[in-house]
Amino acid sequence: MSSNIRIQKICQHCGKEFEAKKTTSKTCSDRCAKMLYKANQRTAKVEAINTETQRIKTQPIEQLKAKEFLTVRDVAKLLSCSIRTAYRLIEQGNIKAVNIAQRKTLVKRSDLDKLFEQPQPVKHEPEQIQFEIADCYNLKEVQSKYSISETALQQLIKRQGIPKLKKGWFSYVPKAVIDRLFTQPTKA
Ligand SMILES: [Zn+2]
Repeated sequence: MSSNIRIQKICQHCGKEFEAKKTTSKTCSDRCAKMLYKANQRTAKVEAINTETQRIKTQPIEQLKAKEFLTVRDVAKLLSCSIRTAYRLIEQGNIKAVNIAQRKTLVKRSDLDKLFEQPQPVKHEPEQIQFEIADCYNLKEVQSKYSISETALQQLIKRQGIPKLKKGWFSYVPKAVIDRLFTQPTKA
């Protein structure tokens, strides 16, 4: 005995109301069924692409750092610059790159690191001179002896890297160094 219940449904593709034979029917016709299937396939594809894009975009930088060879896209990402800028750096020879095929440029990770290996300026530590307070002037003494302002003296000490001893409120500088500095014959 067949059921006489009529199932009225809305076609998920064309939106038309139709009489369904099964409760699971989604479309009014075979044609709409095919179209709906295609549309769903397309949506799935787009979603997959978007997911992949998202994955690449959020791929941890650490992962890139571990790679031995980088694409220009990777380089741009590591340098936080545009792909165009990355290409320019390569064109200008700032980054060494190899064209392994047309439109396929690879950069060696270690070559990218070289971009940042600027020669470090050699820091000159002030000469370590052993001296005692007995052999020193305090700053006030230097100021009055050589008629120099406190500011000028402080700058001079800093600029010349003059060793300074601190004791309590006072700073002391070696007499020998100061006397030599102020009595140096001025060049004609
Ligand atoms: Zn339909």
